[in-house]
Amino acid sequence: MPRKLFVTTALPYANAPFHVGHMMEYIQADIWVRFQRMQGHEVHFVCADDAHGAPIMIAAEKAGKTPQQFVTEIAGGRRQYLDGFHIGFDNWHSTDGPENHQLAQDIYRALRRQGLIAERTIEQFFDPVKGMFLPDRYIKGECPRCGAKDQYGDSCEVCGAVYTPTELKNPYSTLTGATPVMKASEHYFFQLSAQRCIDFLQEWTGQPGRLQTEVLNKIKEWFAVDEHGHGALSDWDISRDAPYFGIEIPDAPGKYFYVWLDAPIGYLAALKNYCDKSGRDYDALMADPALEQIHFIGKDITYFHTLFWPAMLKFSGRKVPDRVFVHGFITVSGEKMSKSRGTGISPLRYLELGMNAEWLRYYIAAKLNSKVEDIDFNPDDFIARVNSDLVGKYINIASRAAGFIAKRFGGALSGDVGVEGLSVLDALRAGCSDIERLYEEREFGKALREIMLLADRVNEYVDQHKPWELAKQAGQDAVLHRKSRLSCASRRCASPTRSARSASTRSASTST
Ligand SMILES: [Zn+2]
Repeated sequence: MPRKLFVTTALPYANAPFHVGHMMEYIQADIWVRFQRMQGHEVHFVCADDAHGAPIMIAAEKAGKTPQQFVTEIAGGRRQYLDGFHIGFDNWHSTDGPENHQLAQDIYRALRRQGLIAERTIEQFFDPVKGMFLPDRYIKGECPRCGAKDQYGDSCEVCGAVYTPTELKNPYSTLTGATPVMKASEHYFFQLSAQRCIDFLQEWTGQPGRLQTEVLNKIKEWFAVDEHGHGALSDWDISRDAPYFGIEIPDAPGKYFYVWLDAPIGYLAALKNYCDKSGRDYDALMADPALEQIHFIGKDITYFHTLFWPAMLKFSGRKVPDRVFVHGFITVSGEKMSKSRGTGISPLRYLELGMNAEWLRYYIAAKLNSKVEDIDFNPDDFIARVNSDLVGKYINIASRAAGFIAKRFGGALSGDVGVEGLSVLDALRAGCSDIERLYEEREFGKALREIMLLADRVNEYVDQHKPWELAKQAGQDAVLHRKSRLSCASRRCASPTRSARSASTRSASTST
């Protein structure tokens, strides 16, 4: 039975170009999606820019642009990365699109009807010069513990103390330098602590196969009841005061949804926009019980995707996610990527240098598994892996026979592989179901190891039969044709990590 899959990757924040961490996630999801499509399943694979929030509003202002202009320009730069690394999204949308405004407001109204929205007055720092409430990251001051100057509102980089912005000594707004004042404001909360939310989330997270073991263990900590008998799930502040770049809260003038409320709804908006553009019925698709909704995300946003997001969907009467696939981060030579320290690799620079996208796709695939583990990009290891596996084994097979097939046999394969050839082919085909299972389970590293073993097998066959010698002998054409055929047939199993474009036979080297 063909499956119906709605697959997303996390929405990137629209304040900067992609980094290699984004590309890792897109490559992981793209390989999985490509595999599902090869199995004949129906896949709708979408993503969007996460366009809202204070950081974008402030960055746009600094750049002398409207937030809309700012995010449109960022969005305009996405295509070169996605095409460059052969990522096959069906649609790329924006959380500032009209579909998302509509969906976010609909979902909010439904949650309110369910009695799950509370109003509470909270006090927050306010910049009297700028006339806006300050998110924690825009407040600095002296550490309440060690007195270090210019520390952020949540923690001290000098002594490691963790605190709230109101505990800072001599606080100031990083936007204007003004001393912030405490000001009260009415906020809206999604009541995640309600017993029915907790009951639902216990049930949803506990479904076998839905979440990885490590993720489940983390969630158990979040559910744990503290020494005072309180559940750890607290209500979620979903509103922000104007000025804010976001979606207006219905019936609440001057109030906007916190960016994290409307961001995941962007998955639905991207799908709806895709359906509308391609003549599909979004409502019918979402109402189909056979549709599997699957999100690929990084480990840092697990809380949002395994608690808030399913609860929002459930209590607004919508389909809940079937699976959330969480991955770790990518490090470079064992170090966390850091722009300021100049570590990390720029995906665009990689392409500009003339490096083949397939090399990075292969290398990342070879390192990925189904666990929430960080993977490391190591330049020396990258070159060695690409040269030994991709060029030395996999491409080698084709390059050893493709010439004969093209020049001598008009590009047509022989219908006859001979008894020996057939036994090699049978061995290759016997490996298929295991490899398929590994792809399905996102055990790409293991799948590629299996595939490389098969490549070894074919290379052994070619070595034994030496088609280059047959080619020199008169009257051996039929034999040569037979022996060359295997080289092409064996390439089938490995293709989900590769794009439709052919991989280069050039070796990877630092000189490019
Ligand atoms: Zn300190």
